Amino acid sequence: MAASFCPPARLLLGPGPCNTAPEVLEALSRPTIGHLDPAFLELMNQIGERLRRLFGTSNKLTFPVSATGSGGMQAVLANLIEPGDPVLVGINGVFGVRFAECARRLGAEVVEVHAAWGEPLDCNAIALEASRKRFKIIGAVHAETSTGVLLGSDGIAKLRSACDASGALLVLDTVTSLAGLPVELDARGIDATWSGTQKCLACPPGLSPISLSPRAMQVIAARKTPVTSWYFDLSLISKYWGSDRAYHHTAPINMLYGIHEALGIVFEEGVDERFERHASAARRLWRGLESRGYELLVEEKHRLFPLTSVKIPEGVDDVSVRKKLLENYDIEIGGGLGPLAGKIWRIGLMGQNANSGTVDLLLHKLDEVT
Ligand SMILES: *Cc1c(COP(=O)(O)O)cnc(C)c1O
Repeated sequence: MAASFCPPARLLLGPGPCNTAPEVLEALSRPTIGHLDPAFLELMNQIGERLRRLFGTSNKLTFPVSATGSGGMQAVLANLIEPGDPVLVGINGVFGVRFAECARRLGAEVVEVHAAWGEPLDCNAIALEASRKRFKIIGAVHAETSTGVLLGSDGIAKLRSACDASGALLVLDTVTSLAGLPVELDARGIDATWSGTQKCLACPPGLSPISLSPRAMQVIAARKTPVTSWYFDLSLISKYWGSDRAYHHTAPINMLYGIHEALGIVFEEGVDERFERHASAARRLWRGLESRGYELLVEEKHRLFPLTSVKIPEGVDDVSVRKKLLENYDIEIGGGLGPLAGKIWRIGLMGQNANSGTVDLLLHKLDEVT
């Protein structure tokens, strides 16, 4: 008999994935049925409803793309962008860089407005650019997981007005925010977004919930050129997720059992209660780190709850601490990326891991290895 792979029992406190909720693991193991089975179509309807509720939207086109978060980005941008389109992206970390790069590869003329990594976006500078020129898209990352910086409600409101002035769609990456922080697409006037399952939703990686506003759908309907990606062509995929139920690609059936279960767990707990749990776990971590003399990278008012970036103290070895946490205690935390490599650790408190017991355990083990 072939030997099975048995993963070690890790506590995942990095930038994602986080641990999958046990109920979700159980849901994933249920028998596979056909992607056109009437029972499955009903499940799809429920997933759509639950995602709309969590995203805070009535957008018809709201469903999980069969891909990770980056695939959702590719899908949204490939449908919205045509060669030569002007796109403005605010960048203060890895995922903003990725957003701009993806748009550029789709042929967009990309203007980048940079802020230092660890600092909030300069939304006034973005608004100034937008007042000078018409853009098709103004984009940013809601929760920058590479640095732990949040694009706050004020920032989103400024970007929305910049979009109104420029005739642009507001497009946000909500991979780390969904189910950990309020996203509120409709209330904030966000036209298009992609998220992921392995961050605050506590599912395995593999699906990217996306949502597009009627305004974004009009932009797609007005395309002069076909979407170059056949797999991510939303006009084709939406025939499967919409009332036609036409086969496009085989849906990842069991992953959809998983996201359905994960969304059920979110509403069972209560969305506000879940956000509050992420907030209080993060605050406990911040106080615990600060009381030990650690310095946090991001100013408190711009900090993310699901992801904390902490400066590695002078004389402490980044890799050996992370290695000891993993090997001795089965705890994974993340290192820094790009200019922050070797300078910070990234500690994720996402999904079920956002609780005081987990925070206390991590702080205790961190004491042991430093
Ligand atoms: C994790 C992450 C992504 C990428 O998602 P993948 O599932 O790794 O493709 C994109 N944006 C943000 C903000 C993320 O945290």
